[in-house]
Amino acid sequence: MLKSVSKLPSNANVAVIGGGFTGLTFTYFLNKLRPDVKITIFEGQNRTGGWIESKRLQLNDNDNNVIRFEKGPRTLRGVSDGTVLMVDMLEEIGKDTEAQLYHISKNAKANKQFLLDTNNRLIQVPNSLKTLLKFSFNPLGKGLYKSLIGEWKRNGPANPQMDESVASLLTRRFGSDQISKNIMSALYRGIYAGDVKALSAQRTCNRMFLNDRKYGSFTKAIWNNIFHKKSKKEIDPSNSPLLNPRLSIYQKAFHRDKTKIHELANTLKNYPLLGFKNGIETFPKLVRQYLEKSSNVNIHCGNPVSSVIKNKKDMNKLIVELQDGKLYDTFDHVRFTINPEAIGQIMNKQDVSLSKELSKVNSSTTVVVSYYLPNKNVIKKEYEGFGFLVPSSTDKSNLGKVLGVVFDSCVEHSFKPLALNKFFDDNKTTQTEIREKAKEYTKLTIMLGGYMLKNKDDPLFDRSKAIDIAKKTLHNVMDISEKDLDQGLWDYSVATNSLPQYFVGYDDWQKDVEKKFKDNFDNQVSLGGMGFARTPSLSDLVLNNCQASIDLS
Ligand SMILES: Cc1cc2nc3c(=O)[nH]c(=O)nc-3n(C[C@H](O)[C@H](O)[C@H](O)COP(=O)(O)OP(=O)(O)OC[C@H]3O[C@@H](n4cnc5c(N)ncnc54)[C@H](O)[C@@H]3O)c2cc1C
Repeated sequence: MLKSVSKLPSNANVAVIGGGFTGLTFTYFLNKLRPDVKITIFEGQNRTGGWIESKRLQLNDNDNNVIRFEKGPRTLRGVSDGTVLMVDMLEEIGKDTEAQLYHISKNAKANKQFLLDTNNRLIQVPNSLKTLLKFSFNPLGKGLYKSLIGEWKRNGPANPQMDESVASLLTRRFGSDQISKNIMSALYRGIYAGDVKALSAQRTCNRMFLNDRKYGSFTKAIWNNIFHKKSKKEIDPSNSPLLNPRLSIYQKAFHRDKTKIHELANTLKNYPLLGFKNGIETFPKLVRQYLEKSSNVNIHCGNPVSSVIKNKKDMNKLIVELQDGKLYDTFDHVRFTINPEAIGQIMNKQDVSLSKELSKVNSSTTVVVSYYLPNKNVIKKEYEGFGFLVPSSTDKSNLGKVLGVVFDSCVEHSFKPLALNKFFDDNKTTQTEIREKAKEYTKLTIMLGGYMLKNKDDPLFDRSKAIDIAKKTLHNVMDISEKDLDQGLWDYSVATNSLPQYFVGYDDWQKDVEKKFKDNFDNQVSLGGMGFARTPSLSDLVLNNCQASIDLS
């Protein structure tokens, strides 16, 4: 948010704390712009990639097959600007490798999304008139039309300057909490593992927040937008900009071919979802391999950073101390890419009040349970899609704190290759399906807990209890037989303190924290990662890292 960061001196020494997606992509961009700068990534674990993990498991079958479970994100959205940057990066980091990209076309079944309703059945999220009609007769659709009619007449905020929760904004605009608890709560569980009643509207649905403040109504804002677009076209139909501002910044800073980026962005817009043949971890692995070839990048794994302090002998330098006591004392700049509360712990030695401020952010913990059944597809035809999310209105029956379920096998069966080399060479995507004829199997990921996980004794922290909850959910909701569930292969992991919760007033908090860092460290420290990007999505992180590297160079 705070843009006025000083440029790095020549041959500067930079420490990047955290070797997840943010640490790696930030280093990639900075190294490209400033090859003179020496960068050390400090990663606490023995592997890089952070929450991106395509976990491989050997099956005990005759062919020794290996299967893959995604423990964090699995796909990218083709329409996002950040995806354009990532795919463009692949030209350099993955052209000669097995980094084949897959896509899902607009009419693929895997685009269908479902919500769990209060009768414990799945209802499709409307994507046509027919499905909208069906949805409006479901308990979740109750009051939908009533909420929309007259939206423009309802009250504005009591204090327009103040932030409010997502639930509060929606309840005010739609005259009841139906849309908030029946629909949006599910979406927020899916994206943030968070609670609509606690998350900031200003931060997480900024456009709606601003439209409410500016037009006093979402409906009026839509009308204004339509009218505005029309009149713009009438004035100058040919004057559409080639690249939007975010892509333009990237294209200029990294000297990319403007037409190519434009065509890439337009092509990717046709693909609602993109994935990697060998799992999404392919991407951070390729970035790491690329960085390891650079003599000015050093990746230091297996030893967490315990503190960052000023070097009293040379106030222009910072000292990074590792948990094993090793000191590195010559850094001109430290870039944090870990969650705010973790930064707080590292800053405690240098500045207790800053540390306290950072510890105000909580990050939610998600339990991830994966299921694989070979040789059989047990997902009913009518449920084929991306998966389902669980709205808060079902909480009385959602005793297992299920956030949502991803139907991985449906997604994987819908994947078609996007021939990257061909795209870059010929500027065309191939329509030929070179994919091996997919074998029948079922793969599902059940996400549980999130903000609902408050107690250390929660059964979800017990592997077998969590798997039992997942089994019950799949049996009750998707009618998968107990026998099929028992015969499947199960995996369990916990993403502890993974997603920062953007509380009401978060934007002001962030500005304040960034200012304090600037005052105390005079631009020797900068803040990145999920706590400081617009959202915790990969797409927003990569844009944020790109901008940060430009600001510093
Ligand atoms: C279950 C789950 C599902 C998700 N699904 C999606 C999705 O569908 N789409 C999407 O866009 N995003 C999704 N995300 C979010 C996505 O995973 C994150 O945006 C991204 O991985 C964050 O990367 P990061 O590098 O900022 O942080 P992290 O992945 O947290 O990486 C930080 C790194 O810093 C290291 N570290 C921490 N403390 C220290 C220390 N003291 N010293 C040294 N190193 C340290 C950690 O070990 C880690 O490797 C999901 C996240 C989770 C948990």
